[in-house]
Amino acid sequence: MLDFRKELLDLQEKGLRRSLRVMESPSDSWIVIDGKKVLNLSSNNYLGLANDQRIKDAAIKAVEKYGCGSGASRLVCGNMKLHNELENKLAQFKSVEACLVFNSGYNANVGIISALVDRGDIVFCDRLNHASIIDGIILSRAELKRYPHKDISSLESLLKKSKGSAKKLIITDSVFSMDGDIAPLADLISLARKYNCLLMIDEAHATGVLGENGRGALEHLGLEDAKENLVQMGTLSKAIGGFGAYVCGTKYLIEYLINKSRAFIYTTSLPPAVIAADIKALEIAQGGKELRIKLRGNIGFFKGRLKSLGFDVIAEETPIIPLIIKDSKLTMEFSKRLFDEGVFAQGIRPPTVARGSARLRVTLMATHKKDDLEFALDKIEKVAKKLCLI
Ligand SMILES: *Cc1c(COP(=O)(O)O)cnc(C)c1O
Repeated sequence: MLDFRKELLDLQEKGLRRSLRVMESPSDSWIVIDGKKVLNLSSNNYLGLANDQRIKDAAIKAVEKYGCGSGASRLVCGNMKLHNELENKLAQFKSVEACLVFNSGYNANVGIISALVDRGDIVFCDRLNHASIIDGIILSRAELKRYPHKDISSLESLLKKSKGSAKKLIITDSVFSMDGDIAPLADLISLARKYNCLLMIDEAHATGVLGENGRGALEHLGLEDAKENLVQMGTLSKAIGGFGAYVCGTKYLIEYLINKSRAFIYTTSLPPAVIAADIKALEIAQGGKELRIKLRGNIGFFKGRLKSLGFDVIAEETPIIPLIIKDSKLTMEFSKRLFDEGVFAQGIRPPTVARGSARLRVTLMATHKKDDLEFALDKIEKVAKKLCLI
């Protein structure tokens, strides 16, 4: 019999036992969590839209007009006008033929991948891809081939060895969720072409953030012409500040997924309040050049200062900044002491990250003020010195 208590003690011993904290405020740059007001350095609400009044108003209006629940799955009678409106807006935003909304990013990855490939097919997956991608591949029953992080030549030798009639799919996060670095998309696009593979990119942390217009990593890297054989997914729950996810591509891809994706078919559609909020938030994010400029300014400033404190930081313009501590217990101690000082930076441990690479995952928001960042840097310096980390 599985002894739950023993399993938990086991996790505890390794410094890996997790527990839920309770937040009593909206998700903003300052939050009240476990009864304490702290600076939030842990959300994915990069543009600060999750508590925006204009978006809240849109959600409230939708509740008045359409009610709370959607009543059924999309293919039955849960496909409201709002769902189509959001999908049209997303397709226009990403300049693609068509788009389909899923109930969450997790759902989308599981539902898309398991519909695209099957037993006997092969999926090439960056080692640091998000857990939902791995779960989608497992569910598909296709063969999983992981390549070392961003290692294009290793990927190519795997592709060379995999000649034959199997369908091939390469999948990558475009911005890696725990490291904040950007995938080598230009190289991946050429490999996909050369070896006749489908390429899928997960833009969860790029949507709304990267590119002048927030369209994501392809815009950022100047690769928007390379949409052939490309499946793009992203979430509405991070920089967009709402909930749900999307996949976009050709109209045939979308119609195929409507017919084949079980995670799309067998679930109740997102409720009106969520969809209406997403529509408004997308509109704001799309026109939110100043927000992105503000965010980039915060990233540049914060990374520069961390570097001068002696932390190892990569230069890329993403709001995810890992402070690698390696040891899980020490990571949690760092996080706890920062919390006591009024800064919330969640420790991230295995299995979310590789063994021996536990870290604080610091994330920045466009709505962080200069004073907020100074405050955070002060506290990080103080605690890191006490723990002999710098
Ligand atoms: C967060 C995340 C997801 C899941 O998105 P949700 O909308 O939160 O379910 C998928 N992929 C990546 C890379 C993510 O970081």
